[in-house]
Parts: sequence; structure tokens; C-alpha cells
Amino acid sequence: MPPKASSATKSSNSATSKLSSGKFVESGLQTPIQFVKGVGPKLGSIFKSRGVETVRDLLYFFPREYEDRQKLKRISDVIAGEKATVALEIISTKRIPVRFGKSKFILETRCKDSSGVLSLKWFHVFQGLEVKLKTGAQILATGVVKEYRGLKEIIHPDISWSTTASTEAIEPAVTQHIGRTIPIYTEIEGVSTKLLRTVLWNALDRYIDQVHEDLPEELLKKYALPRLNSAIYELHFPSDKTSLNELSEFKTLAHQRLIYEEFLKFQFMVLKNRSERQFKMALPVDQKKAKTIINEIIPYLPYTLTGDQKKAIADILGDLEKPHPMNRLIQGDVGSGKTIVSLLTAAGILGSGYQAALMAPTEILAEQHLKNAKICLGGRFPVYLLTGKTSAKEKKAIIADLATGEPALVIGTHALIEDPVKFENLALIMIDEQHRFGVEQRRALRQKSKIPSHLLILTATPIPRTLALTAYGELHNTQIKEMPPGRMPVNTRVITVNQRNSAWAQIREELKKSRQAYVVCPLVSDSETEGFEDLKSVETEVEYLSKEVFPDFKVGLLHGKMKSEEKNRVMNAFKAGEIHILVSTTVIEVGVDVPNASIIIIEHAERFGLSQLHQLRGRVGRGSHASLCLLMTGTRVNEWTEKRLSIMEKTTDGFKIAEADLEWRGPGEFLGTRQAGALPFKLANLVRDQKWLELARTDAEVLIEKDPTLSSPEHKNLRQFFIREGSVQLDRLKTS
Ligand code: ADP
Ligand code: MG
Repeated sequence: MPPKASSATKSSNSATSKLSSGKFVESGLQTPIQFVKGVGPKLGSIFKSRGVETVRDLLYFFPREYEDRQKLKRISDVIAGEKATVALEIISTKRIPVRFGKSKFILETRCKDSSGVLSLKWFHVFQGLEVKLKTGAQILATGVVKEYRGLKEIIHPDISWSTTASTEAIEPAVTQHIGRTIPIYTEIEGVSTKLLRTVLWNALDRYIDQVHEDLPEELLKKYALPRLNSAIYELHFPSDKTSLNELSEFKTLAHQRLIYEEFLKFQFMVLKNRSERQFKMALPVDQKKAKTIINEIIPYLPYTLTGDQKKAIADILGDLEKPHPMNRLIQGDVGSGKTIVSLLTAAGILGSGYQAALMAPTEILAEQHLKNAKICLGGRFPVYLLTGKTSAKEKKAIIADLATGEPALVIGTHALIEDPVKFENLALIMIDEQHRFGVEQRRALRQKSKIPSHLLILTATPIPRTLALTAYGELHNTQIKEMPPGRMPVNTRVITVNQRNSAWAQIREELKKSRQAYVVCPLVSDSETEGFEDLKSVETEVEYLSKEVFPDFKVGLLHGKMKSEEKNRVMNAFKAGEIHILVSTTVIEVGVDVPNASIIIIEHAERFGLSQLHQLRGRVGRGSHASLCLLMTGTRVNEWTEKRLSIMEKTTDGFKIAEADLEWRGPGEFLGTRQAGALPFKLANLVRDQKWLELARTDAEVLIEKDPTLSSPEHKNLRQFFIREGSVQLDRLKTS
């Protein structure tokens, strides 16, 4: 048993007493890394370049996995007659001549570790053995230990030529490296995991007593979690009792405690931020007027709202009633009818005398929204379109009109956030397909508003609940799960490229019924083609399909590098039915609505995330026709990919697909890798640790309710944490 483990347990008591007396100092943890024993300036600067600047950073540099070295013994500890594994360095090897048996010599290798000397002997030497037994080589030897003339030896040992283990074992401070479960760290260039282990050993020895408890006693008790100092200690140097499995899966109590703590702190920050925003000046939206106007419009819609649409409107009206701005995320699958929800909200805001803006990621989409908005609001309020295409003259007129502060809805692309546009009276900001915009763009639109404004965010990429709670934790959530009536679920099948002829036959079937088709190829820019030369580009595919397969039909081309007029021309021709097959990159993913399209073929489907495939699939099945989606893969996809894609065959529920996607591909799929990297978790994993996330959310809600300023004595250290660490991380994550 290493000396420190017991001291960690002891220190937990002293931490409590220091904590309750309120005199706790923690300055030691701020000590610059180079002052840790065994570090120094040179190593210190390597650490710093990797963000490990202080003792605290070092203590939170957790192992990525563990290795069981409990059975490894030192030479001085092995007992004659017992089997043992020892880590050794070879001192010398020599042949000892003999006169008996077939062989002419015994091979003897002298080895050492920090505790003694031991011989390895072979009476039969297999080929190649001798050359491997070089002086200075590091080996692991296993066998029954004997004693011969006072010297320990192993005859015919099993040798493992592993170098990492043995090098370490000969160091003087053996307990860090053998005889226990040892931590394996992500190596920092120039710092081996072995050196990291030694440095951490030293740091723990010197500083663990100064780590104090952040979490309220009550919460630790609630889940029977260990204290912070023993948890940190245990993570680096687990006790003998801890199961290697639990360690590897981050399932030990020590892991769980730190994971829970990460979630709790994060949730507290998110909720605190949200509640602070709520204290901002309230908007004088006239709820009654808003409600009246919404109810006036609904009967004139060409359809009845679904239950979930009504529920969404009710959520929004509820928000408007509150004395602070709305922050709401509406999630609903493609085609679930989010647009009308946003337009009705706009109607309410306009009806009470304010302006509203709706930002969409593409011109096509903005134009589609304009058409719907005119049907919904036309005659009552002015509706403007502001895109890159809007002429200078038109733009001027719109800007002038907005400056009057009169109620109006402006629909646009990112042109909305371009400079000269100013809103006098903007009380509602709506962002469609929000994942298509960067945080800065969303923020820029917010800053256009001179008065506190409501925020409504729409997304057709359902976000897994865990992400809704973290990356979008500041937003209230509405889900639209129910589809408008009459929709036929899209029949989906995974096929390989070998079956492409049958795919074309399916397209022909649909075209004969006067339906239309999409064929999607992955976007192939030059950099992407490298190593993927067999990937088809849209251009090659258009050529092939129009000449070889469908010479009797009109095949169109659409990709992101085309000029926007060109894109619009193609899209409009497709909408008008002048183009029968649209070969496209993923630019069609976003919101395009052509109900007559009834088949989509996605080539190289294995290259896409499930949520993205789901979005693409949503291009069909928008009318009343039965629709088909064929996911075409290469011939050499692995089992893993097959399994992943088969989820698409089994469900059309975007929320289920999102959960699966998170599991298979991580949060980058939803947030963009940069933003996903901004989730400040060292140990916590959104998929693996969902249970703790939910618990932390609930506990943080209670905490905010009971003691929002953390001023009670039992929250003192938690408050210190927030003062110390600030909310830099959170800032990067803000959704608006
Ligand atoms: P999304 O949620 O993908 O933005 P849209 O708002 O574009 O979906 O709606 C998809 C289609 O469904 C549109 O053509 C719209 O007019 C229609 N729609 C919306 N709500 C209903 C409803 N309650 N009943 C019938 N059709 C509806
Ligand atoms: Mg939409």
C-alpha cells in the first residue's frame, strides 16, 4: 500500500474542518508547474504549452486509461519457489560451457532492478534468443523463482520484450510504476507517461491536502460520493481494491464524483446566466393583443394546426406573458411545420406594435418564407425580403421604413446583419435552421435590436436531450414531434453501389408517374478528393445520368459553388417540374420544399452523419405520395457502418436518430467541431454519463432556486470556484 493513499483519506477530514472554520487557503494549487518536484523550467514550459500551467491543472490532468501492474514484483520481494513477474534490465549475457546433454552450453543472463540482481537461464536456446538479450535491454520475465548459490534465478522464463513497463520498474520510486494499478496518461510530446506519473506522484504528495471540497455536503451525501481530494488521488493512483474494469470505463465512484461535479458546475452557470438574462428589462408586449391577432389568423390558414403546433404557440404565448424576454428553441423534424409557428409568433409581436426579423440560411429558404408570410400576414402588416439579391434602391426603402419603428416583418439571409440595416423597434428575433449560423452571426442580429428582444430559434436537426441541456442549456425547449396529417413515412433502404441499376430503375418508375427525383453526391472539393478518388462528384454524375441513363429526361445540377442566381434558376426550374432529376450536393439539405419529389438517392451514404441523412431524406415525402429513400454505399463498408445506416431503415423519428448520431459520432455532428470542443468537460461524456447530467440539472435548478448567489456558508467554496474560474467557457457557448 503506497503511503499517500491513507493520507488522502485523512486529509478529507481536515478539509472539512478547514472549510467550516472558513479560513481555508488554497494558494498552493496556484503554484506554477515548474516548481513541482521533478519538473523544472524546461519541462515546465512543455507543460505550459499544453495548458498545464499550475499545480491545479496538473492534478486535473487525468489518466486516459489504466494498466494492472499489481502482479509485478521487485527482485527483493520475490520468494524462491513462487511464480513471479519481474521487470528487469539486462546487465550481461554469457555462455557457460557444459559437458552433458545435447547442448554445449547454458545461456545465463544477469539482470537487475532497483532492489537486486537475478539470473535467467536457458538450457535449450532457441534461435534468435541470444541476440535479443542485449545488455541494457528492458524486459519482463515470468517464471518460478529458484535460488542457486545464494542467487535468485528463473529457468526458462517467459519473456515479454515490453519496454515501457520494465524501464519504469527499475526507477527508484517503484511504487508509482509497479505493484499496483497504474495510470496511463495521454502523452504530452517530450513527456512520457512514466514521467507524468512520477511528476503527479510528487504533486499529489505535496499538494493533495490543499485540495478542498467544492460540492455542498448535502449533495455528496445524497449520492454517497467521495470527497474531492480522495477522488483526485484515486483517479491518479487507484487503490488496490478498485476494479480495473470500472476504472477503464470511468465508472468508479471517484470518476462519478468528478463527472457529476463538472455537470453541476456547468448547469449552475448556464441556469444562472439564463436567470440573469431574465432580470433584464421586460418587454411591453401586449399579450392580449398578441393572442387576439394570432387567433384571428389561424382560421384563415389552409390547414388545421397540429396538436404540437398548438402546444408550441401556447409555450410562446406563455413566454410573452412573463416579465422578461423569451429564449426558446423549437425543435421539430423536417416538415413538422415550424414555419407557421414562427410566422404566428411574428404576427403576435407585430400586432402589439413591434418589429420582427426572421433570418434563414439561404436565399431559397428566405424566399419560401416570404411567400408563406404573405399568405399569413399579408394585408395586415408589411413583409420585406432582404437578401444579397435585394437591389440598393429596395434596400434603402426597407431601411427607411424600419427606421420609422412601425410594425413590420423582415425576412432575410445573413444580409440582415450587414451594416446599414437598423431596426428601430425590433422585439422578436427568429433564426431558422440555427445550426447553419455561427454564434457570432446570431449575436450580431441580436445587437441590431435597441430594445430587449425575444428570441425564437428553430431547428430541424433534433438535438439530443443531453446537448439541449448543455450546449443549448440556456434555452427553453419545445419539441414538435407530430407531423401534419397525410404524410407517408419515407420508405428507406440501404443498398450498395452494385445495385445502382435498380436504383435508376426506381427513379424511372417515379418519373413515369410524373414525380421527380433527387440524387445526392458528397461535396467534393479538391482537398476532399485526396485519398477518396473514387468518390463521385456531382458533375461526373450529371454527365453520366443525363447521357447514359436518362437521355429522355431533363437532369439538373445544383451545388454550393454555383452563383446564387444560377442556384435559384435551377431550384425554380425543379419546383416548376421543368427539371426531372436534380443531382445535387448537400445544399438541398436545408428546408427546400418540392412536394412532387418522391425519391431520393444518396450516394456514398456512409460519408454522412445520420442526422444529415435524415435531413436529406426529408426532401421527399413532403406531398401525399409514397416516397422512397435509397442510401447507396460503397462495396466495402464495414459492419459498423452497416449497423449505423440500418438505423435509418428502422426509424423516421429525428430525435431517435439524433441520439444515435451522438452516440456514434459525438457532439461535433450537432455543434460543429469547434463548438463541441468548447464544451468544458474533462471527464464527463454526454452519452456515457447522461444519468449524471440529468441529476446535475435538477440539483442545479434547486440550487438556483434556494441560493442563487451562493451566499450561504455551505456554498462558500462553490462560490469561490465561480469567482476564480469565471465563465469564460460558457461565454463561448452562448447561443445568442
Ligand atoms: P419545417 O418544420 O421543416 O420548417 P414547414 O414549416 O416548411 O416545415 O412545413 C412543411 C409543409 O407542411 C409546408 O408545406 C406547410 O405548409 C405544411 N404544413 C405546416 N403545418 C401544417 C398542418 N398543420 N397541416 C398541414 N400542412 C401543414
Ligand atoms: Mg423550415
